[in-house]
Amino acid sequence: MRLSAYFLPVLKEVPADAQIASHRLMLRAGMINQCASGLYSWLPLGQRVLSKIEKIVSEEQDKIGCHRVIMPTLQPASLWQESGRYEDYGKEMLRVKDRHDRDLLFGPTNEEVITDVVRQYIKSYRDLPQVLYQITWKFRDEMRPRFGVMRGREFLMKDAYSFDATYEGARATYQRIFESYLRTFDRLGLVAIPVKADSGAIGGDLSHEFQIMAETGESTVYYDASYDNLTPKERTFEHLQTLYAAADEKHDPDNCPVPEDRLKSARGIEVGHIFYFGKKYSEALNVKVSGTDGQHVVPEMGSYGIGVSRLVAAIIEANHDDAGIIWPDAVAPFKVALILAKTGDATCDAIVNDVYEKLQRQGIEVLFDDRDERPGAKFATMDLIGIPHHLIIGNKAIQESQLEYKNRRTGAREMINLSAIDTWIEGMRG
Ligand code: ATP
Ligand code: MG
Repeated sequence: MRLSAYFLPVLKEVPADAQIASHRLMLRAGMINQCASGLYSWLPLGQRVLSKIEKIVSEEQDKIGCHRVIMPTLQPASLWQESGRYEDYGKEMLRVKDRHDRDLLFGPTNEEVITDVVRQYIKSYRDLPQVLYQITWKFRDEMRPRFGVMRGREFLMKDAYSFDATYEGARATYQRIFESYLRTFDRLGLVAIPVKADSGAIGGDLSHEFQIMAETGESTVYYDASYDNLTPKERTFEHLQTLYAAADEKHDPDNCPVPEDRLKSARGIEVGHIFYFGKKYSEALNVKVSGTDGQHVVPEMGSYGIGVSRLVAAIIEANHDDAGIIWPDAVAPFKVALILAKTGDATCDAIVNDVYEKLQRQGIEVLFDDRDERPGAKFATMDLIGIPHHLIIGNKAIQESQLEYKNRRTGAREMINLSAIDTWIEGMRG
């Protein structure tokens, strides 16, 4: 992508009303634009990051055998009346009427709709287990939308719903998804601590929230210090059940099983929340499948959310410095920043265009700052928007055939000989 032709409205001023780093940086980096309270447009740079996260979340769901669907954003009130949640849900639910005066709502979550789908098609225990998921925009009329996309009113959520024939099966599904969440957050460069949680309006008796540690988090998480040095082998459901972790009022200092010198506390951002709730919805919506012995069984259910748009902000909270965002490679909007630091020079132009073409041919996402700007302004922009690998072409390219590489995260710099650029590009593919 040539920056001269891109839509990247970076802001020089620090937006006055943005209280946390991720909100400020997303506005300054031209990732989002506020349309109204809790409603945002995702501009090209933000959209790229959001899509990368969405793809990783979706790949990890697919890997464990979940199937992706898309449900409507507007739902009939009648389904929620069947489950009994229509009255309970309160003002967070946006209720609307269609032209026939029928009650609709903008979906804040989708247990009812998916249960309605399953009851129409799944007739036998042989067709279970089944996990269906979607990644779609939800609307919740939050009392206090704040911190940008961290707590928006419209937000992108991955929501999965599981159906099992037996209690044991449902627990096994819960564990499988629990562990896949750890892998998902790991791929996003985040360490998530699963804490036991209340299942709230959803109902049920087993629930975990996945919390990312960051100073600006809305929760306080208390956890066993051994979370800080888990080996990959220990990152299982079974093992983590033996370690203490609780958030906010769920933590009771008087009855905490962890000795004080091993108890840590930090602020956390809730990026995921999973629930097992048994037959709450399947019973209410009268779902029945035939069982092994000719009797009917009512499926056991769970639901599993990940805040995809909130993750963009959470990743920034965990990865930034005074100069701006520092994207982990896996979600970076572009992997390489190609910076022409000397404009109006034919040799430099030839080199930079050649490197740009090579990067593109190798399928590496590159943002090429080809503008007629001061080098300092170009460096600052790439630092602000957080591109992880910077390749700078300036005077040394003409005199010594050398390009400069800068690692955004470590700040480490090294010179690359022009003759070695193909190898360097090859290395970037990994
Ligand atoms: P919170 O406690 O933060 O209000 P919740 O418990 O109401 O969230 P869930 O119903 O568990 O949220 O939704 C699943 C995930 O969706 C949450 O873990 C969170 O990451 C994300 N999420 C929920 N509400 C919002 C919001 N208003 N803006 C952005 N993401 C959200
Ligand atoms: Mg929650």
